Amino acid sequence: EERIISSHMAMEDETVEFSLRPRFLREYIGQSRVKENLEVYIEAAKQRNESLDHVLLYGPPGLGKTTLSHIIANEMGVQVRTTSGPAIERPGDLAAILTNLQAGDLLFIDEIHRLNRSVEEVLYPAMEDFALDIVIGKGPSARSVRLDLAPFTLVGATTRAGSLSSPLRDRFGVVSRLEYYSADDLELIVSRSADLLGVRIQEDGAEEIACRARGTPRVANRLLKRVRDFVEVTGDGVITADSARSALRRIQVDRLGLDEVDHKLLRSIMDLFRGGPVGLETIAATIGEESHTVEDVYEPYLMQIGFLQRTSRGRVVTSRCYQHFGVEMPGT
Ligand code: ADP
Repeated sequence: EERIISSHMAMEDETVEFSLRPRFLREYIGQSRVKENLEVYIEAAKQRNESLDHVLLYGPPGLGKTTLSHIIANEMGVQVRTTSGPAIERPGDLAAILTNLQAGDLLFIDEIHRLNRSVEEVLYPAMEDFALDIVIGKGPSARSVRLDLAPFTLVGATTRAGSLSSPLRDRFGVVSRLEYYSADDLELIVSRSADLLGVRIQEDGAEEIACRARGTPRVANRLLKRVRDFVEVTGDGVITADSARSALRRIQVDRLGLDEVDHKLLRSIMDLFRGGPVGLETIAATIGEESHTVEDVYEPYLMQIGFLQRTSRGRVVTSRCYQHFGVEMPGT
């Protein structure tokens, strides 16, 4: 079953996401530091008539990395090609993509930390010199030939900058970290999306959705769509604080935006492991999720709101978490 507040993309999202996606920097809400810097780099590259330096975007899923890569292409007035780390299996696959790029094109590689080593090595000369080194022949007569590529901009996205190899990371001229969005920014995003979807929303309705969106635009848009369903079918079609609240209650998203999976995760640490410390693998096994999903998707927000800490001995839940659940903390 699809998690309603999942920050990963679901099938139905793709078309809607496309229509809600801001297309230019001025429509991109929040992330002001990243935006202001990019604006300068884009302007400078345009003035010099050069391709933009390679850009690495990192941060949790759903914060707008893919959106930003398309915006960069729009602002530069170039085409974008999209692929992802796991989709490129062999060096030849990447070589084919690179040789098909036109001058100035932007190549977006999502989940770039999942490129395998042999593929990554093709990227080094491509990023540095716009060149492809090809080995012709085998054994003693083998020789290497260098092919020129059209100048291009690589935009890489990753949920974890730390798992990128340093030779790859070092080849990005611009490294930008996306932050969780403030409730105010999310409120603007919800209102904007409601306009685009043609649903009427009051300010306090937008606020209600925004503060449960886990700092994440993708979650905000998804909650908005579900609330819209409820107000259209069971209400008068207007999203108010009340109608939003009752819809959100029905889809079991609490006032901090935590859903069943978060509850299960936190409760298992409190109830089964006396609040921790407990290892990541154990938590993952207990709630039946992959450990990398727990680490990349669930934990960052729980840490952000101060419910969970990562320590050298394992995960620990905080007193704030105990308070939220109304459970007494052991040893207090
Ligand atoms: P990521 O690539 O980081 O997983 P996306 O770029 O796919 O995230 O963003 C998810 C959705 O959230 C987009 O479709 C877009 O509608 C919305 N979104 C993201 N960032 C913003 C923003 N700054 N302003 C408005 N909407 C945004």
